[in-house]
Amino acid sequence: MDPKVEQFMARIKAKNPAEPEFHQAVQEVAESLIPFIEEHPRYKHAKILERMTEPERVIMFRVPWINDKGEVEINKGFRIEMNSAIGPYKGGLRFHPTVNLGILKFLAFEQVLKNSLTTLPMGGGKGGSDFDPKGKSDNEVMRFCQSFMTELSRHIGPDTDVPAGDIGVGGREIGFLFGQYKRIRNEFTGVLTGKGLQWGGSLIRPEATGYGAVYFADEMLKANGDSLKGKVAAVSGSGNVAQYTVQKLTELGGKAVTLSDSSGSVYDPDGIDAKKLAWVMELKNIRRGRIKAYADHFGCEYFEGKRPWHVKCDVAIPAATENEIEKGDAETLVKNGCKVVSEGANMPSTPEAIEVYLNARILYGPGKAANAGGVAVSGLEMTQNSMRLPWSREEVDARLQTIMKNIHQTCVDHGTETDGFVNYMKGANIGGFVKVADAMLAQGVV
Ligand code: NDP
Repeated sequence: MDPKVEQFMARIKAKNPAEPEFHQAVQEVAESLIPFIEEHPRYKHAKILERMTEPERVIMFRVPWINDKGEVEINKGFRIEMNSAIGPYKGGLRFHPTVNLGILKFLAFEQVLKNSLTTLPMGGGKGGSDFDPKGKSDNEVMRFCQSFMTELSRHIGPDTDVPAGDIGVGGREIGFLFGQYKRIRNEFTGVLTGKGLQWGGSLIRPEATGYGAVYFADEMLKANGDSLKGKVAAVSGSGNVAQYTVQKLTELGGKAVTLSDSSGSVYDPDGIDAKKLAWVMELKNIRRGRIKAYADHFGCEYFEGKRPWHVKCDVAIPAATENEIEKGDAETLVKNGCKVVSEGANMPSTPEAIEVYLNARILYGPGKAANAGGVAVSGLEMTQNSMRLPWSREEVDARLQTIMKNIHQTCVDHGTETDGFVNYMKGANIGGFVKVADAMLAQGVV
């Protein structure tokens, strides 16, 4: 490792102990940025990277609520307000039992660079709780969301901090959170994105992250004279991002052959077409069942406790969670002929897996670029809320496609190496950094 990166990381680890995911996210960025900062001393002297890795504010709170048996339950609540140099804090809320400070700091840090890449005026934040919505009744989820928002409402606002969904936070949870905010503040404002269409939401927001990850894969292929047409894709997860990834892949002439959840994965070599996807959406979004039911219903293979990376594919789109592709998985993907990895999830590939992609010179679109479509359309939802005018599906989708194309171009501009190979990870890190760093320089030491 570059000794300057090593020194920088030693300080990060000492100041933020026991936060391995945060260290991992910062190190990936530091490896791209420190050589760049050395060439641009104004960033070095103003300690921009040191400042960017320290959240502007961290809010941690108790979330007490009462379950259906009448018992008191207590969860932890968090909001990381990471960076507001280019706009109000913006980033999702995650409800999952694994949530802790380090995970949310990694997500908030990535979010700062991602939001900058979208070209929209959004700072970075992230929040959530160790609450597990799985197995809870709608009433329990509502009571939890109301208690969570009772505290969070003191810290957010349409010009301050605008949360959205993430793992475990979909349309149902955003509805309960918005209702409680409105009740406490007596304001109908665009304080959350991912809202329902009848109450301030944007068309294409639910689809945006998955669609964006597919558009990004297509852009990478097009830059190499190819396209998604006829490509076989392995997709992980079966939630919001995975579902709309499969939908757009099919629309663009590709074939998704896998889906997964935390229990296992299904392999359907005939492809998960529109009809089968509608069945998955009903299973996951309404019946809230397990993906194994797909294999039972459609008669295909199910791999208990396994991720889908062992199947033969041209394209991989991880859309479940962090570190879900390890070194061995990446080696198997490359060995089986996979040429494109477009990350729908945040930090789904371990550093060792990324090294495998880069050594094999495949097209690797990192999450902060490839999955930025979700927050981009959240930004468009904020614009529509401010104008109090909704845009059509076609208008939002066209803007999303333009944004994904522009992000791709930014990665090419900052990530093309002397031999012509595009290191999209480096391109995304530098491209995202410059705008935030210049704004921080202009705003003084704050
Ligand atoms: P959902 O909650 O809708 O779906 C998550 C899916 O991933 C589920 O199938 C879930 O399975 C699986 N999963 C979650 N945790 C694990 C785990 N530890 N191991 C294995 N599988 C797991 O979330 P989203 O689709 O919204 O988010 C997926 C990813 O995309 C996350 O990394 C998120 O940060 C990222 N992302 C999401 C955006 C959005 O707009 N929603 C925007 C940008 C990024 P199970 O049901 O068994 O838990």
